[in-house]
Amino acid sequence: MYRRIDNTFGIEAKANRWLEYRSEDELRRIVPTLQGEHVLHVGAGSNLLFTKDFDGTVLHSDIRFVSPVSMDADSVWVRVGAAIVWDDFVAYSIANGWSGAENLSLIPGEVGASAVQNIGAYGVEAKDLIDQVECINLSDGTRRVFLNEECNYAYRSSIFKHELKGQYAVTYVTYRLKKSFVPHLDYGNLREQLVSNPSLNAAAVRQKIIEIRRSKLPDPEELGNAGSFFMNPIVTREQFEALRVAYPLMPYYDVPNGVKIPAGWLIEQCGWKGRTLGRAGVYEKQALILVNRGGATGEEVVRLCRTIQQDVLNKFGIEIHAEVNLI
Ligand SMILES: Cc1cc2nc3c(=O)[nH]c(=O)nc-3n(C[C@H](O)[C@H](O)[C@H](O)COP(=O)(O)OP(=O)(O)OC[C@H]3O[C@@H](n4cnc5c(N)ncnc54)[C@H](O)[C@@H]3O)c2cc1C
Repeated sequence: MYRRIDNTFGIEAKANRWLEYRSEDELRRIVPTLQGEHVLHVGAGSNLLFTKDFDGTVLHSDIRFVSPVSMDADSVWVRVGAAIVWDDFVAYSIANGWSGAENLSLIPGEVGASAVQNIGAYGVEAKDLIDQVECINLSDGTRRVFLNEECNYAYRSSIFKHELKGQYAVTYVTYRLKKSFVPHLDYGNLREQLVSNPSLNAAAVRQKIIEIRRSKLPDPEELGNAGSFFMNPIVTREQFEALRVAYPLMPYYDVPNGVKIPAGWLIEQCGWKGRTLGRAGVYEKQALILVNRGGATGEEVVRLCRTIQQDVLNKFGIEIHAEVNLI
């Protein structure tokens, strides 16, 4: 039986089998039936680009659970089921007076994927909050708990996305939140936008971020997309200094392992902002976002992606890589 796979890019793709489980025990019972098959664990499909139908089983968690599990003077640890919508968790934390997740407001997707993708926005990443990730091994059904330091977190990257790709289902994530508000306003012009607010708190930061995101990002219901299509490249300091001579206005951020250049700026400089190739295009307001202009296939989006990558490489000598998972 074929089942359509939901994805925010709005690409038509089907799987041979779709299985949803409500508990770790149920998943353990499913695991033996998966052996010898292609398996893809999905969340809400907001970071997937299907280039063809999926010839195998698609798994989806329906583990819905949110509860604080311990506390000390400063922090609260909250255990959350993988199927909880990420932004519902952010709203829940703020409603309870706990801070830490507010800068990650309105990121689409589910809690399970937050730990795989190491989602990030406005200077905060999921790794800053994750205490541990509970998983089931999809080969033998064994349970494993990964502590934060075992997840190899880096920019939009984790052990689940690379070394152990496809091997584990994330079932629960425990986040450590703060009982008092610790603002993170150093990204972009967030501070400027909030500093005049006399009652600055996590709820106010969330509200502002929602406002900014709604004004800048396309709504997948109206225009298929998966958020930032490319990761921002990190170049060596020597490469950066050489580029800066040629492009003195190039924006950049110093990071511990080099200099990060906004991929959106590089793409814009190549003249791609707002342009279309086939039925895929580059969003008018933000060149980092590739969009489905209506009826695009995954292959059309990939063709656009490859063309942009080549243009950026030709012009700047920088390789940019997709953040979106190509399936
Ligand atoms: C409009 C828009 C804006 C966005 N903005 C941001 C942003 O600001 N910052 C950011 O970081 N991302 C952003 N994204 C990308 C996306 O929201 C995140 O990558 C999100 O974490 C994907 O969640 P998902 O549940 O949709 O996962 P999916 O897209 O379904 O899956 C993503 C990956 O996680 C794996 N996975 C999912 N669930 C599980 C599980 N339970 N166990 C094991 N593996 C699993 C999948 O196999 C896949 O590799 C944006 C996307 C859109 C459409």
